[in-house]
Amino acid sequence: MLRRARVIHIRGIVQGVGFRPFTHRLARRFALGGWVKNGGDGVEIFAEGSPDALDAFARALVSEAPPAARIASTDVADVSCCGLQSFEIRESAGAARPTVRIAPDLAVCDACLRELFDPADRRYRYPYNNCTDCGPRYSIVRSLPYDRAGTTMAPWPMCDLCAAEYHDPADRRFHAQPVACHACGPTYVFRDGDGTHARAYDAVVAAAAHLRAGKIVAIKGIGGYHLACDARNVGAVRALRERKFRKERPFAVMASDVATARTLVTRTSDVGTARTLVTTGVASDDAAADDAASDDAAFEAQLLSSARPIVLAPARAAFDDVAPDNRELGVMLPYAPLHHLLFEAGAPNVLVLTSANRSSEPIAYDDDDALASLAGIADAFLIGERPIARRLDDSVVRISAGVPAILRRGRGFAPVAVATLPATRPILALGGDLKNALALVVDGAVFASQHIGDLDHRSAREACEATIRDLCAIYAVRTEELLVVHDAHPEYVSTAIAQELGAQTVAVQHHRAHVASVIAERGAWDTNVLGVAFDGTGYGDDGTIWGGEFFTGSVQHGFERIAHLRRAQLPGGDAAARFPVAAAAGYLAELDDVPDLTQPPFFFGPRYRAARELIARNVRCFRTTSMGRLFDTVAALLGFTRPMTFEGQAAMWLEHLASSASPSAAHAYPFPFVGNELDYRPLLRAIALDRSAGREPSQIAAAFHVTVADGIMAVSQRHNDVPIACSGGVFQNGLLVELLRERLDARAWFNATVPANDGGLALGQAGLASFA
Ligand SMILES: [Zn+2]
Ligand SMILES: [Zn+2]
Repeated sequence: MLRRARVIHIRGIVQGVGFRPFTHRLARRFALGGWVKNGGDGVEIFAEGSPDALDAFARALVSEAPPAARIASTDVADVSCCGLQSFEIRESAGAARPTVRIAPDLAVCDACLRELFDPADRRYRYPYNNCTDCGPRYSIVRSLPYDRAGTTMAPWPMCDLCAAEYHDPADRRFHAQPVACHACGPTYVFRDGDGTHARAYDAVVAAAAHLRAGKIVAIKGIGGYHLACDARNVGAVRALRERKFRKERPFAVMASDVATARTLVTRTSDVGTARTLVTTGVASDDAAADDAASDDAAFEAQLLSSARPIVLAPARAAFDDVAPDNRELGVMLPYAPLHHLLFEAGAPNVLVLTSANRSSEPIAYDDDDALASLAGIADAFLIGERPIARRLDDSVVRISAGVPAILRRGRGFAPVAVATLPATRPILALGGDLKNALALVVDGAVFASQHIGDLDHRSAREACEATIRDLCAIYAVRTEELLVVHDAHPEYVSTAIAQELGAQTVAVQHHRAHVASVIAERGAWDTNVLGVAFDGTGYGDDGTIWGGEFFTGSVQHGFERIAHLRRAQLPGGDAAARFPVAAAAGYLAELDDVPDLTQPPFFFGPRYRAARELIARNVRCFRTTSMGRLFDTVAALLGFTRPMTFEGQAAMWLEHLASSASPSAAHAYPFPFVGNELDYRPLLRAIALDRSAGREPSQIAAAFHVTVADGIMAVSQRHNDVPIACSGGVFQNGLLVELLRERLDARAWFNATVPANDGGLALGQAGLASFA
């Protein structure tokens, strides 16, 4: 019989995910001889047998790969046969730089779930059940190599039964580092203020009873603590808001299963009005129906993906206290075995599940910290004994026109590589100060860190520094060899951190980094684009506050700013970002004929008058081209006159308002592109007049969104045929993205893999720095 031999080299996330035993099983199926071993940068396979079997084997390696594996590349080379008849798993070879990739944390798999609910199984109701296909990874790694001793499971030696599974290549738990059971592993404990203590499943039952009774329970998950309560219990939800000092920001919910999740959100396929209202005359009904069906499919695919992110979808009302003034609800499904056990034990089937912290501080993940900082918030604690090595927030994904976009990268996504760069030197990009997230480039692969938070909190700054140490340790990079990229803002905390690292540094302008992040996702380094960067605040080349910017050029050759929103004033500087009426004072001051906004229907109060006063005296007034503040101004004109309690709130309110408008709202306001400026003055004048004339605010809001999309079209008409790369926090606005997709189709590029907000900056910074 004809015999051939091949060496197959597979790179990507292929270690610690059961790839070697999987290869072993496949080789047996195709009657191949040879071996498989872990190498420095992936898995190496030598296989010999009939050519047909080798072909089928190579295909199956990719098509049937374990769920946790992410294959980046496969190289196959013909070699000569060695006469091997059997197939074996060999021990690993050492490597210079371990480019082995740490897998993200994975939702519990179906096989483990079956055991969880099988009374005959020895892991029946065991809250830390896992196998090579599922369970924690990044959240438990303390050091490399990835083995038991280097994880937070080190204090629990395996019992004989677990050890036997761990060492058996034919077993589902072969080399599953966190493997454990009731007999040898950690469990959960329950505590409340009345001195109730319970362990194991009794702890879960006690927590479920507290949730049913309307109590707030702090629950340790995979990447940190959550605060949970019954989402349908208005009193419990309000108590949680008060105790957490989180007045209006939406909460996410966890539904017990897909069927329950479906009842919470609008099936776009059976409503459609909300999304077609401002698309009149552009999209046909058929196209809208197609979009809706693809949204539904994408919604469920994301809900059920192994990352189990929070998925945003149009809410089916009745959850006003959970997500006030918001057209969307964030929904996720159970991902840790513990969550499944909680629902089985009778917890309400829709739970508010929000990061356990005070206000906007980072999520608590250390038991002592959680007990101390949540004492006044949680009525009870469900504490897992397995420590968490690093905090990981839940990831957030939104579907728009069937396309998922990641708004926050956390558990389930970090620390996966998001792009490849033509860089040989290691690069560390520090991102921005808000929604901080890092990127480390090693051998051209860009590893994106988890969402870290706002660096003005000390604990977030410490987390940022810890994540730098973490990533450098994992990929064996010394800080001295790094090129460190930071934002050009001289007063950013991240800029200071960059300078303290003692490596070579390079500054990248904020909005160019936003545009580059979209291009980096596509690897289109030398493609000329029109870049559109719309956000709230970023440090401009001239030291003023930018945020409504247009660029031409490429990542490879750099970006030239060619147009921007007309300048306005920002009375009070960054503080104005919290007060839409202050932003309105600054933008409307540019009009010759300012309407009296203290009168009906506007009712602007003292904060507006104080801002006017600053402008009149030209005190603490800053120049800005911020599109975010234009959204705030319009929100104020339409009724959002109170202070914001979280970033982006007024713009979200405006999007929500627009989504309830009627189709007749679709005409645009004047927003002329003159010279190199988009002039908002005619737009604001028309909006103020319409509002005074009693036009429905929702219709004005819808028309404003159309106007902004048309403004981008006006600039794009001078740059025919190039892709339009849109990024920045403003493009988290789903309505605006939909309007641009309708107008530009595939010519409009948006972020999908990294957030459009400042969470995506690091990727763009790394891209620009690699060509600098
Ligand atoms: Zn499993
Ligand atoms: Zn055991």
